[in-house]
Amino acid sequence: MKILVINTGSSSLKYQLLEMEGEKLLSKGLVERIGSEGSSVTYTIRGEKNKFQKDILNHTDAIKVVFELLTDPENGVIKSIKEVDAVGHRVVHAGERYSGSVLITDDVVNALEECSFFAPLHNPPNIKGIKACLEVLPEVPMVGVFDTAFHQTMPDYAYMYALPYELYEKYRIRRYGFHGTSHRYVSQVAVDLLGKKNSKIITCHLGNGASVCAVKDGISVDTSMGHTPTGGLIMGTRCGDIDPALIPILENVEHLTAKQIDDIMNKKSGMLGVSGISNDFRDLEDALHNGNRRAKLALEMFDYRLKKFIGEYTIILGGLDALVFTAGIGENDPETRYEACKGLEFLGLYLDEEKNSSIKGELAEISLPESKVKVYVIPTNEELMIARDTKEIIESKKKKNKSGFEVGELQEA
Ligand code: AMP
Repeated sequence: MKILVINTGSSSLKYQLLEMEGEKLLSKGLVERIGSEGSSVTYTIRGEKNKFQKDILNHTDAIKVVFELLTDPENGVIKSIKEVDAVGHRVVHAGERYSGSVLITDDVVNALEECSFFAPLHNPPNIKGIKACLEVLPEVPMVGVFDTAFHQTMPDYAYMYALPYELYEKYRIRRYGFHGTSHRYVSQVAVDLLGKKNSKIITCHLGNGASVCAVKDGISVDTSMGHTPTGGLIMGTRCGDIDPALIPILENVEHLTAKQIDDIMNKKSGMLGVSGISNDFRDLEDALHNGNRRAKLALEMFDYRLKKFIGEYTIILGGLDALVFTAGIGENDPETRYEACKGLEFLGLYLDEEKNSSIKGELAEISLPESKVKVYVIPTNEELMIARDTKEIIESKKKKNKSGFEVGELQEA
């Protein structure tokens, strides 16, 4: 079974084509600057990376270009688009509507459009990607995999905000959490490594966007992001948790609109805002080693906030079996992992410092053998998780078709 995984942004489209037998990656690529001058396509086929420029007006054109590449008579990996058995789409926000991945129907598209209210920056481009695929591949089944779904198991006392209850009833304002596909993937790998299902795991997805998740017996019981991805940890350019009363204060003192404050909180804050240098940890660590005071402050603030979440979640879980690091920083930055683990020996967590400093972007246990709490680096693979969900849903659809059951919405919350 061949599955195409699609992840669309407002002006970009990422794709991967996977052969599910042996879970092999056949090709992957990225279309950028869709709808503006200088659109480009970067793609990898048979391990070879290529890039070209081409005017790409919209997401439908982008999908067509992807299929031209995949079926190219000389270098393509499939002969015809008919070889694609299903498409899995990453969708950021499914509100309270879906607690698992679903077969995409017209009703699902409508429901996701309703959820655009929750994620005005992310859902509309995700829906554009779905519609573009439906236009180009009307016969091929499609599955939606949601960033919020994994966290739908959080209890109400964890996800509610202490705002008037009517705001929840009217608008479903509450915490949702994101990066769910990544937290689900790495926590499943950690469960396999631990060799026990009943486990207490904290997963740290530390990329340009960052979140922490408390996973008990395989399900998410709390996570650091909120109603939007702005909450929680300090991130590349997002502020994470702040005193909410600062917003009207900023409105007054700087005469800013809500949109301008939103821009500051999401694009000009975090590591970039504090350091004034960069959102990238490589630049910040270089600056720190060259004695830059604000880079040092930004990194210390990041480490401190991360540690507070690890502490909170260890208490909530009632102990800890494994601490997992993933995404750009989690997988590649030994200094951040060291700072997060430093001083946690009282929990029975002993980092293997030598191993930690040598691990970049590969699966590894980086705790000492005697450590009660295992520490893992687990490279995330959201695309594989999306492809696995898609395969499972398509296969169960086929089975239900055979047994005469209705094909409808699966696993709806
Ligand atoms: P992601 O959003 O998961 O792609 O992560 C991107 C971020 O990972 C970058 O902005 C950097 O801060 C960080 N990163 C990537 N590679 C390294 C590295 N070798 N050392 C430290 N940080 C890294």
